[in-house]
Amino acid sequence: MIQDPTPKRTELSELGEFGLIDRLTAGLKPFNASTLKGVGDDCAVIDQGDHLTLVTKDLLLEGVHFDLSYAPLKHLGYKAAAVNISDIVAMNGKAEQMLVGISVSSRFSVEALEELYSGIRLACERYKVDLVGGDTTSSVAGLFISVTVIGRVSKEEVVYRNTARENDLICVSGDLGGAYMGLLLLEREKQVFKANPDMQPDLAGNDYILERQLKPEPRTDILEKLKKAGVKPTAMIDISDGLASEIIHISRDSGLGCRIYENKIPIDIVTADVAAEFEIDPTTAAMNGGEDYELLFTASVNDYDKLKDIKGIHIIGHMTEKVEGEYLISNGGNLYPIMAQGFDHMKE
Ligand code: ADP
Ligand code: MG
Repeated sequence: MIQDPTPKRTELSELGEFGLIDRLTAGLKPFNASTLKGVGDDCAVIDQGDHLTLVTKDLLLEGVHFDLSYAPLKHLGYKAAAVNISDIVAMNGKAEQMLVGISVSSRFSVEALEELYSGIRLACERYKVDLVGGDTTSSVAGLFISVTVIGRVSKEEVVYRNTARENDLICVSGDLGGAYMGLLLLEREKQVFKANPDMQPDLAGNDYILERQLKPEPRTDILEKLKKAGVKPTAMIDISDGLASEIIHISRDSGLGCRIYENKIPIDIVTADVAAEFEIDPTTAAMNGGEDYELLFTASVNDYDKLKDIKGIHIIGHMTEKVEGEYLISNGGNLYPIMAQGFDHMKE
């Protein structure tokens, strides 16, 4: 056999995270009838006959997803659990079991890992999730955390990201951009501290955005409010990568376009103040910042009256025909194409 003397090498940066996932999972077909949904939503969905099982997994890597010089281990554990529970919530489900894998270098003490686990256990307690297993290995460099969460939802209640319909309202919970501004603040103070270890970090008054970055909460409360109001979202996703990236997932996967109104995007006052300090447009922080773990969902216009007064839910736009594209309507009335920048570590 003659081998190609120059096998093609594609750099990860050429594809980015989503391109890479597409490439690695291209053409996968399920062998089992129980595999209802594979790659391409917040969770995989398994048919159990009378109900559905949801499964999701997220990795957190020291130096990529967190920096132990400002992320306390307890918060880190809490966040690792919370972001996975958030993916179950994004399918309109209830998280039930968790598996935790860790790789640790000898740099960590037993007490440090207990601290990490106290955060994981706190999140499990708050969201009533059972920690049922995992795996532990040594690592040559740093800390690596892999969390898998299993959840449950009925067949009537499951919500996918590709089922939005034309004219549906686009809604978001909470407020956006805070987690990103919290990150910038922590990074700035770290640099100041590195330059002069005698300087105390100046984080006063910014608790809200620091909490948004260090201790996100899955919005189980929003699912309860929607249920109480009798609203079932037509499509839903959690905001891990920024509003822009997530609304594009819903639009493209649903075969539609969308319009988002800048003046409707909920932004907290602390987020806006710190954004101004950093000379960053708060809308950019909301669109491209990421890690807010709020819910982005679509709902029928017929549900407008039920939705409009729910505290913590904001109607920010609507779905359109695909040909109308994906646009942000600015405060000045101009149309800007929505671009998914997100937190694409591989393209950075
Ligand atoms: P989320 O942000 O909701 O956690 P991701 O963007 O990480 O979701 O993943 C998108 C989809 O791709 C999910 O269905 C996920 O299970 C799948 N996926 C991610 N990485 C891989 C991989 N290495 N192999 C197979 N599927 C993957
Ligand atoms: Mg998700």
